[in-house]
Amino acid sequence: MEKDYTPPHYSNPHMDQTDINYPGPQAAYPPQAGPHAAPFQPPPYGFGHPTITVQPTMVPVVAQMAVVNLTDTPGRITCSHCMTDIITETEYINGLLTWLICGTLVFFFCWLCFWIPFCVDSCKDVKHTCPNCKNILRIYKRL
Ligand SMILES: [Zn+2]
Repeated sequence: MEKDYTPPHYSNPHMDQTDINYPGPQAAYPPQAGPHAAPFQPPPYGFGHPTITVQPTMVPVVAQMAVVNLTDTPGRITCSHCMTDIITETEYINGLLTWLICGTLVFFFCWLCFWIPFCVDSCKDVKHTCPNCKNILRIYKRL
């Protein structure tokens, strides 16, 4: 009676372990990533994430940007005085750069050349006026 009794959960340390059928990591988990495994593929875009839609907003900055962009050439803007879409009239006036170049020429004894900046439009400031209401819209200063 005692000789034939073997407890059901007792394992013999000398017993061959290969016949034991227990759930290994292969059964409980997906295959491990190896050199021949397929690369990880993320779920398609939008899966599990809320879809965010951004509504475009119109910003009325066109008129102000046009005034800023008036340089030494006539520009197309909406006049702020008569609210008319116009192309500005330009007039070249003597500015700080004109007198600075003149003074520099005099300082370096170029007496015969001091008048040149007053004849070159690239040395002068530019006054933009409205051809409709004759108001001054902007004076473009080079310095
Ligand atoms: Zn005007």
